[in-house]
Amino acid sequence: MDLTLNKETVFDKVAVAKQDAQRKDDVSIIAVTKYVDSSVAGQLIDAGVMHIGENRVDKFLDKYHSLADKSVTWHLIGSLQRRKVKDVINLVDYFHALDSLKLAHEINKRANHVINCFLQVNISREASKRGFKVEELDEAIKELTELPNIRLVGLMTMAPAHASEDELEAIFEETFQLRELLKSKKIKNMPMTELSMGMSSDYRIAIKHGATFVRIGTAFFQ
Ligand SMILES: *Cc1c(COP(=O)(O)O)cnc(C)c1O
Repeated sequence: MDLTLNKETVFDKVAVAKQDAQRKDDVSIIAVTKYVDSSVAGQLIDAGVMHIGENRVDKFLDKYHSLADKSVTWHLIGSLQRRKVKDVINLVDYFHALDSLKLAHEINKRANHVINCFLQVNISREASKRGFKVEELDEAIKELTELPNIRLVGLMTMAPAHASEDELEAIFEETFQLRELLKSKKIKNMPMTELSMGMSSDYRIAIKHGATFVRIGTAFFQ
């Protein structure tokens, strides 16, 4: 594993994908470090990575404390149990997996500042996937935007593991259009400017459809 080379390759491919999509806005690259320990994550930061993501609270806290001297933006990208909210929520810069109203109320209660949250949406409608279904969103947003410590910065989605290229295109485009619609409503506490989608196998397609944060693990560590 050549970390520096992998980092250069991922960053180059993201730049090409942006160019192909004729996008001039920012696409932030989150290195998902769940496969490696803090020292490897630290090397990646030294190589120029500015966003770190973890999907589990214990691993998030381990990296966060071990790498406290580094200047990075911290992302919690995986589902969060309500009983763990108080341990972690005030440390994260972005929480990507807001998937229920109960969780939102717990975050609102435990937060000591406004927390940037992505609403996780289940666009593919797989039973195994978490997140709000499209038809649940209007009701949910009414309640969520009344919570002063929650800021809805955007939508997050996960594509099915074995989706075809056509299916991926459709899922990412639907998520983009939904984000556009919500943004246009200009609701308080809901800027909806961001889109968290795309992993190692599908980030090029996600960028084509407007992703502003891609969550990449495997491609950094193979
Ligand atoms: C692991 C993980 C990723 C990264 O997946 P790779 O396929 O390794 O790039 C992205 N998002 C979430 C929520 C994850 O758990």
